[in-house]
Amino acid sequence: MSTFVEHRKLIVDTAQALVRKGYLMATGGNISLRIPGQNAFAITPSNYDYFKMTADDVCILDLDLTTIAGHLKPSVESAMHGAIYRERPDVNAVIHTHQAYVSALTLIKMPIPALFDEQARFLGRSVDIIPYAPSGTGMLKNTVAKHVKNHNNAFMMQNHGALVFGHDMERAVHNVEILEKCALAYLLAICSERKVSKIPLAVREVAFVKLRKDQKKIEQGEHTTGGE
Ligand SMILES: [Zn+2]
Repeated sequence: MSTFVEHRKLIVDTAQALVRKGYLMATGGNISLRIPGQNAFAITPSNYDYFKMTADDVCILDLDLTTIAGHLKPSVESAMHGAIYRERPDVNAVIHTHQAYVSALTLIKMPIPALFDEQARFLGRSVDIIPYAPSGTGMLKNTVAKHVKNHNNAFMMQNHGALVFGHDMERAVHNVEILEKCALAYLLAICSERKVSKIPLAVREVAFVKLRKDQKKIEQGEHTTGGE
């Protein structure tokens, strides 16, 4: 018997697509999807090869982290994902990766200011650094929960990797791609040792207002989800 089949399949398909594109490596990172109306989410199992993974291997947890379905140990970052769904009712999909260019910026603790229109429209005003805390700890969960209140959809975890949100899985994947492009462009620009220009503040704010408008629609219950 298998439950939440559509949610679980979407997790597997997304994880494998992100490995093929080079955003996820080996067993690193984790992906989750909210199950609306159930106070629950689907999440990748801990330390498990993405290409061996089947829908049945995906864990279903409630927001208190009690397992509803699944036979494997859930991701060590499950508490962080649960905290994000509590803090951000507009978020229905969360992707955490160790993607290379973002990881480089986390080492120099360099937040990304608003560099491109598309970035401000989908990721928010800036991509901030969340201070270091060890993986899988309550400290990391609490630090993340505090930072995500600013309504941005992408963050960089110091000496660790990327944390990206979407109102659905497709948007979250696109946001992972936008973030990596911004990180690479910013790194190259910084290396030139010339002044890095940003988009005008007014343009950034208009883009952010549009993002907030989209988020408020979801917060008010217009859930668009990736499955049944
Ligand atoms: Zn990680």
